[in-house]
Amino acid sequence: MKAELVSVGTELLLGEIVDTNAAYMSQRLAEIGVDVHFRHTVGDNLDRITATLELALSRSDAILICGGLGPTQDDLTREGVAEVTGRPLTIVPEAEQHLREFFARRGLTPTENNLKQASAPEGARLLDNTCGTAPGLFVQHDGKLIFAVPGPPTEMREMMQREVLPILCEHLGGDLRPVFTRVLRMADIGESTLVAEIDDLISGQTDPTIAPYAKPGEVTLRLATKAAREDEARRRLDAMEAELRERVGRYIYGVNDETMEVAVGIALRERGATIAVAESCTGGLVASRITDVSGSSDYMLGGVVAYANEIKQRVLGVPAEVLAEHGAVSEETALAMAVGVRDLMGADYGLATTGIAGPTGGTEEKPVGTVFVAIADAEGTICRGQIWPGTREQFKMRVSQNALNMLRKRVLGIEVS
Ligand code: AMP
Ligand code: MG
Repeated sequence: MKAELVSVGTELLLGEIVDTNAAYMSQRLAEIGVDVHFRHTVGDNLDRITATLELALSRSDAILICGGLGPTQDDLTREGVAEVTGRPLTIVPEAEQHLREFFARRGLTPTENNLKQASAPEGARLLDNTCGTAPGLFVQHDGKLIFAVPGPPTEMREMMQREVLPILCEHLGGDLRPVFTRVLRMADIGESTLVAEIDDLISGQTDPTIAPYAKPGEVTLRLATKAAREDEARRRLDAMEAELRERVGRYIYGVNDETMEVAVGIALRERGATIAVAESCTGGLVASRITDVSGSSDYMLGGVVAYANEIKQRVLGVPAEVLAEHGAVSEETALAMAVGVRDLMGADYGLATTGIAGPTGGTEEKPVGTVFVAIADAEGTICRGQIWPGTREQFKMRVSQNALNMLRKRVLGIEVS
């Protein structure tokens, strides 16, 4: 089944609000195997709404419209659906009754505008709105399915789950083939290198499909397959995952929601080891990510955000000479921080970050993006220096990802490159 989404609202075109509804609807439709081929955003203008709906109807099986069902003059979705289906708007008595009761419970009387929400194109089915006043619409016209749901996200989501998705599933019948996905998470490899290594698999892909996606600090591969049954999907995803592991398995650190902080937790827990962190440039992000994992108190002892040199010295015991001679952003300081926090907290592993996030503070010798990550443990110490240009936010994310990955490998006994 091919579908198109139409988001209605001038505020969307002006960029005043972000179209989160369309993303949500696309996700839910993908899950039941409806292919969304186009998404439109159109302002509160009847001619343009009508033209958009006509185009969508000319090529898709299902049209899902969101927004424009409110009581005001510029809410024109009902009028648009009436126009393209040639079905005049009429008041639906039960809906009018419902609306009057809704207002009466609040001691109010609906205005003429409010009553507009009780109108629908002839033959349309009204979809109950349990969170607001505007009912949704469902019209079957010339073999096409047309839905209209309200714009407020809580109302839209509730109506999608309770009304729209079940109706679509019913129409899909034997064709109901949900999409099953698996995400392989990778570290130590960039998107372009990865794509080059598995170029033949990506260009020859049919089922499951393989989609690479790059985020700061990691690349993921999303495998997707449509299947009537879960075990069938699992078999196909397993086969593709096995093939990918054979080729690029050394970069895969987690599957699905096994983020880097989860992978670190698994590694530490397996070894019965504890961790303490000392952070300068990441400002607590590493500690925050480690503690995002439920049960992390089993291995996370604590952290120090040592931003000022004085704190690096006084709390972590970084020698004044090291700071004076090598600077706060140096291998020597990172190592002293890692050793210091490990001793301070009595942890098995000490992890430290120090760098220049920018955009100011860079020098020729140490440009913005320079960072040192160090680990101290019973075996000794290691430190890696890198340069990650980018925004402050990207820098912090990348450094935290890289630091956690270094820790994970160190704990698992994998060589840190
Ligand atoms: P409407 O039903 O068009 O009057 O929209 C009511 C409110 O819902 C708007 O003011 C927005 O706050 C919100 N809204 C409408 N469309 C969207 C959308 N596509 N994504 C997120 N929020 C939306
Ligand atoms: Mg609107």
